[in-house]
Amino acid sequence: MPTNQTPLIASDAHLAHAGLIELLAGQEVPCFESPQRATVIRDALLATGDYALEAPEDHGPDPIAAVHELELLDFVEHVWTDAVAHGWDAARPLLPDTFLLRGYAAGMTLDQLPAKRHLRLGAYCFDTATPIVAGTASAARASVDIALTAADRVLDGAQLAYGLCRPPGHHAGRNLIGGYCFFNNAAIVAESLVARGAARVAILDVDFHHGNGTQQIFWRRSDVLYVSLHGDPGGIYPYYSGYATERGADSGEGATVNLPLPAGTDGDAYLSSLGEALEAIAAFDADAPLVLSLGFDTYHADPICNLALQTDDYARIGSAIATLGMPVVALQEGGYAVDALGANAAAFLDALRAPRSARGQDMP
Ligand SMILES: [Zn+2]
Repeated sequence: MPTNQTPLIASDAHLAHAGLIELLAGQEVPCFESPQRATVIRDALLATGDYALEAPEDHGPDPIAAVHELELLDFVEHVWTDAVAHGWDAARPLLPDTFLLRGYAAGMTLDQLPAKRHLRLGAYCFDTATPIVAGTASAARASVDIALTAADRVLDGAQLAYGLCRPPGHHAGRNLIGGYCFFNNAAIVAESLVARGAARVAILDVDFHHGNGTQQIFWRRSDVLYVSLHGDPGGIYPYYSGYATERGADSGEGATVNLPLPAGTDGDAYLSSLGEALEAIAAFDADAPLVLSLGFDTYHADPICNLALQTDDYARIGSAIATLGMPVVALQEGGYAVDALGANAAAFLDALRAPRSARGQDMP
């Protein structure tokens, strides 16, 4: 492939993770996290001629098991077939209706789980936005492979690789799915970089929402920095995490940085907060590529979010991140204004593609 092309790792496996509905504000609605999201981004990037489409390589379950509990892997892999085998109507997605509140409702729930996996839904899911269908497990596995293959390309020498992950990942915790997410692609990449010898890995999350799963996974870790800009959880999903006072715990104290943003935040204000985020990342002095959780739900017309970024702002954000001088593994998270996703992704990634020095590629 010509060296001026950026690897775009994508797969069609996500197309079968479709026909989804969610319960939002008391209504059953078509799931905002749709296959069209990934299709329009892929097509827009390929139309520029600057991206080389590649299929993901199979990395097996071990990198997932390094981040998620085995029982969650087993659940995601088999819950659909278990449900259908026990009479579930295959025309309907699986959604939980009863939640296990671990450690919170002591004496009321004792973590006892039914044998049938589909009856454990509420033990492994924290919201009503994460439907499961026949194609979900293979899509989730492919999404992880996309992320890991993008990381491989950057370790091979690319300054930037873009993983068109769908389903997204940053809401998935060690043993919880939620927020359209099943396996935490960014966390799995960060952990794999540690496994491959990095002493310090930085994750920057510019999706509109707080990456509560990523925060949980690295909460007590000093070797993985998690920095997130997101809508103020005091007013928006995921409500219960992402406050500025959350900074990590134990040896991980200070390695979680949350920068909540008020509703209506525009490009100038966003760039100002991003400056703080980039300072924290520069000070951390990672010795691995930057892992980027990339969402475009910060766009002013996003149907479920409340910031006010314009397409031009994504070029400014991409350019600002490029000033770090770090190679970047960019992984798709959210973004639901489908008509604008292609232009926003192209604006952002084109700015990030600009040549820069190779700091951060000195992994042992
Ligand atoms: Zn989001």
